[in-house]
This record gives sequence, C-alpha cells and structure tokens, in this order.
Amino acid sequence: MKSFNIPEYYRSRIISPLKEFRRKRDKLKRDFTPTVLDFGPVRFFIARHFGFCYGVENAIEIAYKAIAENPGKRIFLLSEMIHNPDVNRDLQDRGVQFIMETSGRQLIPWEQIGPDDVVVIPAFGTTLETQRKLAGIGVGIEQYDTTCPFVEKVWNKAHQIGQKNYTVVVHGKPSHEETRATFSHSKESAPTVIVKDMAQARRLATYLTGESPTEWFYEEFKGQFSEGFSPETDLQRIGVVNQTTMLASDTQGIADYLKQVMIRQYNLLPEEVDSRFANTRDTLCYATNDNQDSTYALLDHPADFALVAGGYNSSNTSHLVELCEEKLPTYFIETEQKILSRELIRHFDLQTKQEVVTENFLPGRQPVTILLTCGASCPDAVVEGILMKIVSFFENTRTVEEVMDAIEQTYA
Ligand code: SF4
Repeated sequence: MKSFNIPEYYRSRIISPLKEFRRKRDKLKRDFTPTVLDFGPVRFFIARHFGFCYGVENAIEIAYKAIAENPGKRIFLLSEMIHNPDVNRDLQDRGVQFIMETSGRQLIPWEQIGPDDVVVIPAFGTTLETQRKLAGIGVGIEQYDTTCPFVEKVWNKAHQIGQKNYTVVVHGKPSHEETRATFSHSKESAPTVIVKDMAQARRLATYLTGESPTEWFYEEFKGQFSEGFSPETDLQRIGVVNQTTMLASDTQGIADYLKQVMIRQYNLLPEEVDSRFANTRDTLCYATNDNQDSTYALLDHPADFALVAGGYNSSNTSHLVELCEEKLPTYFIETEQKILSRELIRHFDLQTKQEVVTENFLPGRQPVTILLTCGASCPDAVVEGILMKIVSFFENTRTVEEVMDAIEQTYA
C-alpha cells in the first residue's frame, strides 16, 4: 500500500516499528493474533491492526501540503479533518480554521469565505450541496480534496443500486459527516433513507409491510429520507449500503433482517430474492474490518482490562470499545493525560456520552495484563504515550530496548 508523508511527531519509536515487523512477516494479513509487549510486571496485548488507515494518512498528507503550499493564504477545513483531537488541534495551531462543526452546524458563515481561500475537504467527503456552495463562491476543491477512496466506493455502490431502481437504505449515523455525504450523493440516483440501528430497521420494515400508517414515517424518519420519498412505493425494492466505520455484525444483521422481511412480504422463492433486495456486500472499509477482526482476536486473551484510544466522536473507535466492553472492563481515552494517576483514570462512557473517573483501575497484584488498541484516526504517538504512562507506574520493568529486541527476534 502507498506510504504517506506525515509529520514525524505522529509516529512512535515503539508502535511504528512494531507494526512494520508484523507487516513484513504477514504481508497478506492472515495473522490477527496480537503482539505481546512484556515489560515484566505489566504486559500489553496489542491488536494486530489499529491506528492510522490509508484514508487518514492520505488526508493528513494533503492537509499539511495545503498549509505548506499556501503561505499567506487563509486555509479552511470544512469540518474536523478526522475524528482525532490531537490532529485537529495541531492543524488549528497552524492557523487552519473549521467552517463547520462535526454535526454540520456552521461556525464560519459562507459569506466570509472568498475565492482566494483554500478549503480542504475532509476524509469523510462532503455533500453535493456544500460542493455546489463552494463552487458558487469560486473556491476550487479538487486540489485539496481528501475524501477517502473507500468512502467514494460507497457512493458508487449506492449509484449502482439506484441505476437498477432499488431504493438505497444507508446504515449509518444520521449526523455523521460521512453518512450525510453518502446520503447526499445517493439521493441523486435513488430514493434514499438512513437507518441508524436495528431498532430503526425494524421500524422501517413496518412501513414496508404496511403495518404502520405512512404519515408516521415522515415524523419518525425526519431528516433521514430524500425529498419526495414515498414509503408506499419506495420500499418495494431496496439495497443496503453502510457508513464505512459501522460494526460489521450490526450491518449484517440489518441487511439479513430486511431481506427476510422482503421474502415474507412478497413470498419470494430463493431465485426471486434479487428482484426485491439488491445483493450487496457491506461497504465497510478494509481498516474497519481489519481493526474489528483484530479486536476479536485480542479478546481471545484473558486480561485485567482493555484500553482503547481515540477521539470520543470517532465512530470506528466507539465500535471497538463496544466489542471490548462485552468482555471486560474497558477504558476509552483520548490521550495519556486521561490517566490521572496510578489510581485514577478519566474515560468516556459511551452510554452517557460523558467522561467519568474510575478509581483503582490498575489491579494490585502482578503481572497486570492489558489489551490495547485504538481507532483508525489515532496517531501511533498517542498509543505510545498511553503505554509508557502505564509502564511508569511499575518498578523493575524491562527497558523499551529490551522489549523491542524481543519483538524483533519474534518477528524477524
Ligand atoms: S476508516 Fe476507512 S473509510 Fe475512513 S478514512 Fe480510514 S480507510 Fe477511509
């Protein structure tokens, strides 16, 4: 895979070489077993795949290039570059301004953007409405468009389904930039509706079968359907695509469920299913699949707790947290600074969407075993910071050099 030029301070003297050892040893990515970093009194099981993906590295390279190539010009990002606070803060420190919040709320009015300004499109892509707005202002977006090719692949899939007269059901978070962008592109080719989870898929099915009155649909799916959408006529042939960072099992569950509803509704024989339900595989990207599969492999190993690093608004990271939480105590943290002391950790609660502090998160007995991973937008340097902070709470640990030598010998 292509390598990118990203600032050195996002790399790590531990994590980056470790990934490289594993990559060289397993180029076809068949081995999902974690890497063990054994410091003696504390040891870490590190996921086989995690951290910056193709789309994120591509976006970071382009954004820093935009800064370097345009001295004296105002540089804007449509919204957060990726969902990582460190990366976004660093760009803001270099003078980059955000036009919108992640939710789509405008921070800088369009009237304040001019044709001489540089606007960088984030990895999630953007809506056609925003593209047209920028074109109207006279801002060229092609040069610094960091839209991930794996997101564009979803748009293409939605287009293909639409061309065959299927309605597109998007499994995604309705307020997420990527899902808003996918919705915008999809509705050009097909009636489109977003479902955020299985509960909404079940509700959608009641309109498909006629169990719920049509008029309820417009209130229940407000903001999640394309203009002119008719639950009576637009749910007779459907296909599912998804946000690239959803949980694979959730999308599979939703697609299987809607397919069964179609089969029952129209008494379909196996060879007739395609006439009502487009035969698509999910549109998750490779990084989401690799990171989720690596997390399942990580969870095969008994441990005291799991640490998952990443931005709290990162979709792919939150799904890794959900997987870990099913098995063992899990702490979702942005950076090492959230580890307040040997006793206290401040971490994000996915249910309440707030940070909470947990006491005595490190067990007293030794050795302590920790599962460690992070999302696709988290720099290796952040993972190293977390790891070393934990190691600093223990005495008589092996040195980093000793641990890395052992890793090199294992994977040489
Ligand atoms: S998580 Fe996937 S879709 Fe998103 S930027 Fe990375 S590779 Fe692209």
